[in-house]
Amino acid sequence: MKAALTTAIGRPADVVELDIAQPIDREVLVRVLASGICHSDLHASELDHGLPLPMVLGHEVAGRVVAVGPTVIGLRPGDYVVACEVSNCGECQECIQARPYACTGVARTERKPGEPPRLSHAGRSVLPFAHLGGFAEYVLVHENSLVVVPEALPPAQAAILGCAVVTGAGAAINTAQVRVGDTVAVIGCGGVGLSAVQGAVLAGAKTVIAIDVHESKLDLARRFGATSTVDASRDDAVAAVRAATGGIGVRYAFEAIGQERTTQQALEMIAPGGTTFLVGVHGPDSQLTYPAFDFVIQKKSLHSVYMGSTNFKRDIPLYAELSLQGRFNLDDLVAEEIALSDLEQGMETLRTGRSARTVITAF
Ligand SMILES: [Zn+2]
Ligand SMILES: [Zn+2]
Repeated sequence: MKAALTTAIGRPADVVELDIAQPIDREVLVRVLASGICHSDLHASELDHGLPLPMVLGHEVAGRVVAVGPTVIGLRPGDYVVACEVSNCGECQECIQARPYACTGVARTERKPGEPPRLSHAGRSVLPFAHLGGFAEYVLVHENSLVVVPEALPPAQAAILGCAVVTGAGAAINTAQVRVGDTVAVIGCGGVGLSAVQGAVLAGAKTVIAIDVHESKLDLARRFGATSTVDASRDDAVAAVRAATGGIGVRYAFEAIGQERTTQQALEMIAPGGTTFLVGVHGPDSQLTYPAFDFVIQKKSLHSVYMGSTNFKRDIPLYAELSLQGRFNLDDLVAEEIALSDLEQGMETLRTGRSARTVITAF
């Protein structure tokens, strides 16, 4: 199959022919119809996270099941599915308590030592990033990573449910548990941040302040229900949030970029008793400095968010259904659709931070 192979950090991937194994045990072979490009892909291609090379990036996948392993019970060929990078065994305490994102038995979903690799190139094992490796014609995954979605949902819109939407909307709905009347700020209006805006709106927040440096993304945020916006290339985000909340600050701030300065701002803009959520993934060398005194005296909290605390087999069909009802805007989250051969151009679009989500839909 064709796949974009990353062989060195800091170098563009090459589209090459890779070998993909046939499904064994509970594995499912999925023909990829759409594959979103996420900041985590960009980070993993530019910064050394210690992952073994070569690898195939991509972890936002919608596709159609083409073959299943002999012990697969929940899926069959023809099913229209979305994949989620939340690998989960389905049997550990965390999985049983509906917290698959905290699964402690992920190894049970992988091939065992001694078994041939799922992906290989010229006889050499290839890492599928996030257990998916979505920048390819096919993915081979454990059935627990997949969920069936309605046929009415177009592939590009379905794909972004797998990371951007569950992460952003989940941060607001699952992790923060935003309630009716709460005040919220979201820093960074890419696919994840805009989903956090929509999640906060769905949950009934009274005030949803969207912050970005690109006016086009702030337009989108307003379309998604943000009650006000701040252009941080022009205005001071902290002062603007204070001004919009009677000088107090917001109850919840979501940092959806993964930068030191904006995380600092997210801590400064919360009200006493408020919480800042780290949604964006920081680089391996990123450090945070903040007066510890402030946490206790101002009763502030800092909370990490992994994949929007998603129970994705509940959440992905939910957001799909809300989208089909016109209550969750997936259409405007998809900024453009490109071909796999134009992956580098898609990565460049992400680097500039100008648009929401670029999705590969031609392979
Ligand atoms: Zn992602
Ligand atoms: Zn588990």
